[in-house]
Amino acid sequence: MTTTYHNLIDGEMVSTSATMEVLNPATEKVIGLVPSCGAEELDRAVAAARKAFKTWSKTPIDDRRKVIQAMSGAIKENADELFRLLTSEQGKPHDQAKGEIYGAAGMVAAQSTLSLEDEVNEDSDTRLSRTRRVPVGVVGGIVPWNFPVMMAMQKIAPAMLSGCTIVLKPSPFTPLATLRIAELIKDIVPAGVVNIITGEDTLGPLITEHEGIDKITFTGSTATGKKIMEGASKDLKRITLELGGNDASIVLPDADVEKVAEQLFWSSFSNAGQVCIAAKRVYIHEDIYDELSAAIAEVAKGVTVGDGSQQGTGVGPIQNKKQFERVCELIQDAKDNGYKFLSGGDVDPSGTGYFVPLTILDNPPEDARIVAEEQFGPVMPLMKFSTDDEVIERANNSEYGLAGAVWTKDTDKGVAIAEQLETGTVWINEYMHLSPFAPFGGHKQSGFGAEYGTEGLLEFTYPQVITVKKDAAV
Ligand code: NAD
Repeated sequence: MTTTYHNLIDGEMVSTSATMEVLNPATEKVIGLVPSCGAEELDRAVAAARKAFKTWSKTPIDDRRKVIQAMSGAIKENADELFRLLTSEQGKPHDQAKGEIYGAAGMVAAQSTLSLEDEVNEDSDTRLSRTRRVPVGVVGGIVPWNFPVMMAMQKIAPAMLSGCTIVLKPSPFTPLATLRIAELIKDIVPAGVVNIITGEDTLGPLITEHEGIDKITFTGSTATGKKIMEGASKDLKRITLELGGNDASIVLPDADVEKVAEQLFWSSFSNAGQVCIAAKRVYIHEDIYDELSAAIAEVAKGVTVGDGSQQGTGVGPIQNKKQFERVCELIQDAKDNGYKFLSGGDVDPSGTGYFVPLTILDNPPEDARIVAEEQFGPVMPLMKFSTDDEVIERANNSEYGLAGAVWTKDTDKGVAIAEQLETGTVWINEYMHLSPFAPFGGHKQSGFGAEYGTEGLLEFTYPQVITVKKDAAV
């Protein structure tokens, strides 16, 4: 049965006459209908957010914290229903969907503990100067389809804590779990503080250019990020952009092949490779290249690609047809160029579901499209290197600068290499770990600003300096 979902505007669950279909990427069957909002619904949501801002921005931060914590609790209590819904719309296997739902609830709770203290700039005989943080106003949040719940909540929670109100737009491909959360938080959050509206890609530019919105926080592709920056420039909205990546993982010759093979595998193939911080270029030192590449290919043999709702599935489908076709095109290009595959290489686009076999490439050249472009699919190019200087240069040879990893027993050396990588995050001997207390953001064309931690929270605020002259003659 196809369920019809509603949007959250001004504390009410509302519908529109026009709807959009949401598909299950494993079956290509319609699993939900959601409202298709345009300018009129957006105006209503922004008006509600503006009205709510007057009270919410003056609500004591400890009271705002309590509301955010209650939201986290509602997500946790309903995790079972939510992770199944998430698998059905996004495709990721149940265990990974469970990880996203509990992860989002935990991240929301953790963000609620951050604080926005005033800072004293000068306290002298003549003057007291302090900086306070004031919320920017109404935030427009726009999120992608790879981690729809996590991305939505990592925008909603800090916006609320800072005193802002928000109008959030999920991706048209994956709005269902987020709309279910909207229903769950409807009576927890004061009316208008959080509004969640769905629509086609055309709704995004309307948000970006809406004069009642003061800030855009966006996660998605670099191409869309550039359009958002342009749209937001019209009235100089504040922006935070979390964009694409082409992360390099560097494996030094002292790494233990047995221990790292499986971790490296999952650093590329979690969520079918549809992770901004997946290892998308894996550089292995020539001394261990043959042994480690064979071990990674062996791990792939034991992993099943299939419907994420089925037990035993390790890697689900690509989330949507457009992305499926793009990944197929990159694999075909690699084939046409005669690059060698250690796993995969053939895709059957005629079958049901957007499934791509686990694809591991054996030392393709640096300028291969499948290496140079963000694949965002279950693809892992393995490449040989000889020296540290060479691999650092190759890793940095990208317009992206999101994250990266170094694998070595010598952690001092790992850190020394990390410090030369042009990315916002570098892990030594682990992958994809994000702390709610550390800023996460991209260098170069991977982003603008940061999320998480105090730094992420401050992006929802303006500094206001108040100076009191102590010895004034008045
Ligand atoms: P996308 O840019 O196509 O879409 C993201 C969102 O923007 C969707 O909600 C979409 O409807 C909306 N949108 C589309 N056109 C718009 C426009 N002109 N103006 C405003 N909004 C518009 O991205 P996607 O394909 O959904 O997601 C995949 C991309 O997201 C990858 O590049 C990935 O690396 C990136 N990503 C980055 C991070 C990060 O934190 N850096 C995290 C996850 C995904």
